[in-house]
Amino acid sequence: MTGRVEDRREEWEGPVPVPTGATVPFWAGALEGELRYQACDCGHRQLYPRAVCTACGAEDPPFEASEGVGTIYTYTVCHVPGEPGFGDRVPYVVGAIDLAEGPRLLALLDADPDDLEIGATVGVRFWQVSDEAAIPVFVPE
Ligand SMILES: [Zn+2]
Repeated sequence: MTGRVEDRREEWEGPVPVPTGATVPFWAGALEGELRYQACDCGHRQLYPRAVCTACGAEDPPFEASEGVGTIYTYTVCHVPGEPGFGDRVPYVVGAIDLAEGPRLLALLDADPDDLEIGATVGVRFWQVSDEAAIPVFVPE
């Protein structure tokens, strides 16, 4: 399953991810509209990507593709920009999203805060912010 990738390179003023080390497959997948997490042979699943499994210590746990659907564990509405380049975006919403596959990730929620509630189902989209990275953004389903 893939999420739509929108080209935001012209307008994006926020931080731009630089793929390195264990994160390279994650960012490559995001550019193709695929949200990838690591699924270790020991059964542990993790995201953000790391060089080792946080449960068993195995190196380079393999990636799997998420269906791109999750639920809102919690969220906050940011009225003061937390990063340079977010000033024109306030108020914006950051959420902790529990993917159906298990891992929880922090991501922008592209929605009116009044339309959000904890436990609601969200789906992933991607904003391409550079030639080498797209960031996952979630919207209500
Ligand atoms: Zn493991």
